[in-house]
Amino acid sequence: MEMQASLVWSKTCEHLSETLPKDIFDRWIAVIQPESFSSDTMVLSVANDFYQTWLEENYLPLIRKAVSAVCGAPVQIQLTVDSSRTIAPARATAPGVERPPRRKPAAGSPNLNAGYTFENFIVGSSNNLGHAAALAVADSPAHAYNPLFLYGGTGLGKTHLMQAIGNHVLPHGKLSVFYTSCEAFTNAYIDALQKKALVDFRKRFRSYDMLLIDDVHFLAGKEGLQEEFFHTFNALYESRKQIVLTCDRPASEIPAIEHRLVTRFEWGMVAELEPPDIETRIAILRQKQQTCSLQLPDSIVHFIAEIIRSNIRSLEGALTRVVSYASLTQKPVTQETVEYLLRDKIDQAQKETLSAEAIQRAVADHYDIRLGDMTGRQRSQAIAMPRQVAMYLCRTLTNQSLPVIAERFGRNHATVIYACRQVAERMKTDTALRQTVSVLKQRLTRG
Ligand code: ADP
Ligand code: MG
Repeated sequence: MEMQASLVWSKTCEHLSETLPKDIFDRWIAVIQPESFSSDTMVLSVANDFYQTWLEENYLPLIRKAVSAVCGAPVQIQLTVDSSRTIAPARATAPGVERPPRRKPAAGSPNLNAGYTFENFIVGSSNNLGHAAALAVADSPAHAYNPLFLYGGTGLGKTHLMQAIGNHVLPHGKLSVFYTSCEAFTNAYIDALQKKALVDFRKRFRSYDMLLIDDVHFLAGKEGLQEEFFHTFNALYESRKQIVLTCDRPASEIPAIEHRLVTRFEWGMVAELEPPDIETRIAILRQKQQTCSLQLPDSIVHFIAEIIRSNIRSLEGALTRVVSYASLTQKPVTQETVEYLLRDKIDQAQKETLSAEAIQRAVADHYDIRLGDMTGRQRSQAIAMPRQVAMYLCRTLTNQSLPVIAERFGRNHATVIYACRQVAERMKTDTALRQTVSVLKQRLTRG
């Protein structure tokens, strides 16, 4: 193997391992060997034509982009099969071969979590549309809305609501229901391809009266999978079977998704789950409290609901943490204790919600300059200094990367680094500036 090729490939792998989920990287990238590299073509090899086809259909553009980025110029990728190779188990496992057998649900098992029901789903203004649609679908599958497409951020109840539909129709015993994550669906498909059992795979997934597929954003950029998904969808739809899908964003915003899939996802009912308002958050905490051994005072429940805003899973985690602490120490819980116990979650929640624009606006307000000056070209100190303060606040109060922040200010990332250093340096001696920054931070993080 050429030196150059292995060098470029190892750099590419470093890059891809940072951007891809570990399981995907191990399964699909770690199995690739670099063969040769000439000025504009990289030859890679895999152990069999199954890998070759799957990679070509699903990951080739991604690999091409990564190799090109490493080389600083466009590079073509050629995937070849080297059947003399065996796959080192330490580096990767071939799909369906060296992995321990995955536990398959027995035929007929709906794969549902019985704890996700309509009864324990709290309804508020943030989720009432999704709830009503889900209930309608549960009451008359394939007649109310088909498909039902639920979308929203993580931890907002998509999986709960989707499984509640399944749990609702199950006791009637009339319909066969199956829940699967889109990822598990994919793995089943890959196994079927490998074992040449596609006919069985298709028969199975097209036989359910109700198919619940969670997290379909997983389809992003995977052409071969989208094709299969498309046919599964059509087969179910045409035989009047209910389909329910969830996604972390609107269908049209899934990257690299076929238009015909987006169209189908939007055929029936599309409902968004939004972050819960304060009343809903309190109601969810109260409901959770009923299953806890220890009851917290109402004021503390309110306080938790006030500080954890954007994710119901975090909200539940926060309650568990405070209750555990209280029952361990047997001491009354104060607001300070709660703030201390939840400090990481508070930071996280604020970092997620604060936008660069909100920061620019607050800083512009404070210094009495125009919002446009934040992105403008003026170099006078009266403008440049507040602009630097805003960059510094973006860097310290949000999770946004340097390039993203730079883009918000219409500058390059070196300028942002410089601005942050300047502000930090000046704050060491300039008390007024220190105070300003502290006031702005407080204003921004207390909503
Ligand atoms: P998602 O699939 O959107 O990431 P989940 O459905 O897994 O979110 O919900 C996260 C947690 O929050 C689960 O434990 C779920 O039971 C709970 N949850 C979400 N929404 C509600 C709600 N409206 N009422 C009660 N619990 C909820
Ligand atoms: Mg989910």
